[in-house]
Amino acid sequence: MTIKGEPQVHDTPTTSPAKVMRGLLPCRILFPQDAHVPSFPAMSSTIDTLLAGNRQFIKSEFQPNAEYYRTIATKQTPKVLWIGCSDSRVSEHQMTGSKPGTMFVHRNVANIIAFNDGNISAILEYAMVHLKIEDIIVCGHTRCGGIAAIEDGVHENYIADWLCIGAGAKAKADEIARARGLSREEKLVVLTEENVKLQIQHLKSLCIIRNMIEKGPLPRIHGWLYRVEEGRVDVLVDGRNAAGGPSPVTVPARRKTRTRR
Ligand SMILES: [Zn+2]
Repeated sequence: MTIKGEPQVHDTPTTSPAKVMRGLLPCRILFPQDAHVPSFPAMSSTIDTLLAGNRQFIKSEFQPNAEYYRTIATKQTPKVLWIGCSDSRVSEHQMTGSKPGTMFVHRNVANIIAFNDGNISAILEYAMVHLKIEDIIVCGHTRCGGIAAIEDGVHENYIADWLCIGAGAKAKADEIARARGLSREEKLVVLTEENVKLQIQHLKSLCIIRNMIEKGPLPRIHGWLYRVEEGRVDVLVDGRNAAGGPSPVTVPARRKTRTRR
């Protein structure tokens, strides 16, 4: 029996390794039953706290605003795409005082926009073509572990490869830090800012954005820095005044196709 308003628990269906090997089922289902790996103790007070928090959310937020949540349950209509860092301290809805349904969200380590990332490309396509979002916010934050790793160098395989995409920002920050004689802390803030600007350039260079330039209208593009020590947002790139779309992007001229006679 389930109690109305209680979080629901669903059991993972059992499966066989053979089905997984044949690609019939996602391999993650194999893990709990078949792998003998050490794990944390079964009790988790953190998870209990989260579930208790959900009950509190239903009581203090969801039920008093039932009409709003009923409306967004039928359809989401966010006007903003948020591209931020995965950091646990950076919550886009909380920091902007927004309700669920306000922003379509993509987060990864160091708020990076990569050229060969099918994940972000699909998100952009869905956000622009189907949701018709009007604004894209790329938000970095102070005390970012990813940014510190770009500065110090990191040797773990996947993280190192990923953070290479921010290498251009480090070159710029190195230059600025040398010229201004910045401390390490000051330089990390500059590197975070330069990384936001670099990722915006990456964003503008993606095919989906470049192709939309010809079709329009394009979303306005904004670059923000969230200061985790103060809860404050600094606007680095202000897209609010960009009439009809983001600031111009240099698009390579198309070659004219010769017609054979
Ligand atoms: Zn971060």
